[in-house]
Amino acid sequence: MLSDLKIMLDVNNEKKEIQVESEINFSDNVYNLKLILNEGLILNKITDWNGNEVIYNEELNANALFIQSGKRVTLKIPEGTKSITMIYSGNISGWHNTITDNYIALNFYSAWYPIFEDYDMEIAKKVTVKNISDFTVVKGRKNKEDWEYESNDFDCNILAVKDWNSISLENFSPKLNIYFNNRQIEEVKELSKSFSNIISYFTGLLDVESNINGTFDIVIPSSDEGGYCREGLIVLGDLPSDRIDVDDFLAHECGHIWSTGADVNSWEDWLNETFAEVLSLSFIKKKYGVEAYKKRINDIREIAKKSPQIKSENGERPDGVHFKGTYLMHRLSEIFGEDTLIEIVKLFVRLQNKTTENLLREIKLKVGTKVSKFIEEKLTER
Ligand SMILES: [Zn+2]
Repeated sequence: MLSDLKIMLDVNNEKKEIQVESEINFSDNVYNLKLILNEGLILNKITDWNGNEVIYNEELNANALFIQSGKRVTLKIPEGTKSITMIYSGNISGWHNTITDNYIALNFYSAWYPIFEDYDMEIAKKVTVKNISDFTVVKGRKNKEDWEYESNDFDCNILAVKDWNSISLENFSPKLNIYFNNRQIEEVKELSKSFSNIISYFTGLLDVESNINGTFDIVIPSSDEGGYCREGLIVLGDLPSDRIDVDDFLAHECGHIWSTGADVNSWEDWLNETFAEVLSLSFIKKKYGVEAYKKRINDIREIAKKSPQIKSENGERPDGVHFKGTYLMHRLSEIFGEDTLIEIVKLFVRLQNKTTENLLREIKLKVGTKVSKFIEEKLTER
């Protein structure tokens, strides 16, 4: 088993490169280790805890889902070794990954840190970031000239901004910071209001505590399309121009605060995406009315029609997971009522082991066979 990762990250802003020393610690014997690393990163040295070199093999074009340009590194771990250290450097690439003069974004999608194929990534990750003392590292803690950053979720998100604007929402729980660049302050203030409305609406609807501890951060780089949600963090790419579209975008990402936990690497991801979108649409309906909701559903229906069945034959994540499931749930609410739909979202949020099979079992038990059958049939509908 792996116990933790200790990373020394040196950002060379002039060359737009990183230099990394990753120490991987084991809690008991590990013999083989397979990991994905960005193709642009050149391995300099891998050593065991005695300083002896470790034999490894590299395989290019090992494209893992969500990581566009990865290589697979396979290591043979010497008997009894409790840690290994990898030293590598170079360029990174990937969705929402960049090094510019005023913005640095390094995360899972570039595999800038080792992404283990056979081990859980939700281990403690401690990063010391060097050479960017003039930046602010989101969720980081400054220690003299370095930044310290810790993460326990699957991602290891280094987001650093320089000379950006920021606003804070102090008297709201959770405390909110928004970092932005090339955006009007009024627009961002509107967004902060939407955020607090969305959070109170969702917590009421789902009957949950706002389980957000500490500070929530929203980062708005104008580069890259689309956004993502991590613990206490939302990154929003290029914002749409219409208020309603911004709210939809933000509400979808906020939906992921609760609509999360199903395997994102397989067709099961339809659960995370569907219920985040169902929540978002529910907010849109409340704020902008039924007509606005209908307009969105019409668009979703068109894309859903062209998308493959939800339960893919090979189990892989199909295209259109955002739409097919959302349209299914819309039809469900038309037949069985909106309250039934919300009850299903609540069951998903509270589900322990989040798989479709487990959710259907819960629905059958608590909502009824008719509803669970309805969903089950639609999973393989083209
Ligand atoms: Zn999503």
